[in-house]
Amino acid sequence: MADHYGILGVSRDASAEEIKRAYRQLARRYHPDANPDDPEAADHFKQVNHAYEVLSDPDKRQRYDMFGDERAGAGGFADFDGISDLFSSFFGGGMGGRARSGPARGSDVLAEIELTLEEAAAGVEREVEITTLQGCPDCHGSGAAPGTFPTTCSDCGGTGELRTVRRTMLGNMMTATTCPRCRGRGEEILTPCRLCSGAGRVPVEDTLSVHVPPGVDDGAQLRVSGRGEAGTRGGRAGDLYVGIRVQPHDVFRRVGDDLGCEVPLPMTVAALGGAVEVPTLDGAETIEIEPGTQSGEVVRLRGRGMPHLNGRGRGELVALLKVETPKDLTPEERDLLLRFAELHGDEVGQGSGFFDKIKEAFK
Ligand SMILES: [Zn+2]
Ligand SMILES: [Zn+2]
Repeated sequence: MADHYGILGVSRDASAEEIKRAYRQLARRYHPDANPDDPEAADHFKQVNHAYEVLSDPDKRQRYDMFGDERAGAGGFADFDGISDLFSSFFGGGMGGRARSGPARGSDVLAEIELTLEEAAAGVEREVEITTLQGCPDCHGSGAAPGTFPTTCSDCGGTGELRTVRRTMLGNMMTATTCPRCRGRGEEILTPCRLCSGAGRVPVEDTLSVHVPPGVDDGAQLRVSGRGEAGTRGGRAGDLYVGIRVQPHDVFRRVGDDLGCEVPLPMTVAALGGAVEVPTLDGAETIEIEPGTQSGEVVRLRGRGMPHLNGRGRGELVALLKVETPKDLTPEERDLLLRFAELHGDEVGQGSGFFDKIKEAFK
């Protein structure tokens, strides 16, 4: 099966508008009128058209995502509480030089929780074990032994920087470097606290209970505010980020908040109509089958998908019906089917004219 997203050069979560734009551009480029003598362009034009036909139709697109050959539904990224915080903690602060003895925010801590699809649907409360640096209980974070206090750095006089002026052809140039004695803090500890060796923080193992909301998807991150490492010199604590992994499910495939599954349909039920059981996260559900149902038809069960994370309700369950051909027939079943074939005018059975015709065709 072709990679329709790849052909149009859009991501799997591309909007309808983005898909349309990509299609227009490519269709113009590969149109046969623009490439009269290029069979490859014609072939490409066909692929582009087909990809657009599938991806521009919401039903077809969902079906392609769920049952298509390509790996479908690789987790979206649910941002709960402003991911900019995560980036600022990676890139902001501590860039050297400027850091005087002001408060510094504690680092963010990352943890991971692995869930089954059922747990992701229901939401869970999970214990997460983390080791973080927390304020030292002996020195209350100052790093100085109890009863003593940090003193102003004798090298930089408390600025945290050493400035040197060089004469150059272009005039005086001043460079500032971080004070090596106090490492930019502006103060030094003459008698370090014994418990934390002057760092002001000690590693603490902690178990946190994290609430995972119903509907969470693979790849999402939950932020637990203020549960990262302690800040230094009065800075606020970092955050705990919990990455969510949802294990692939044996039966269901998830696309957004919808679930897809394949349901085997006995040939007789497909022809005569009847009922068949569809698995759902809430247990099996019986659905009616119209007479003359074809293999590959889908049945949509509203509200049987995953819960919407930021709202009410649930997605849908899309059941792909696959008509099953019976095997290992008893003599009686075989006789009945032969009788049916006879009435229906089908050529069946070993030695029937069918294989002879095929042979004939290849002579
Ligand atoms: Zn200490
Ligand atoms: Zn200094």
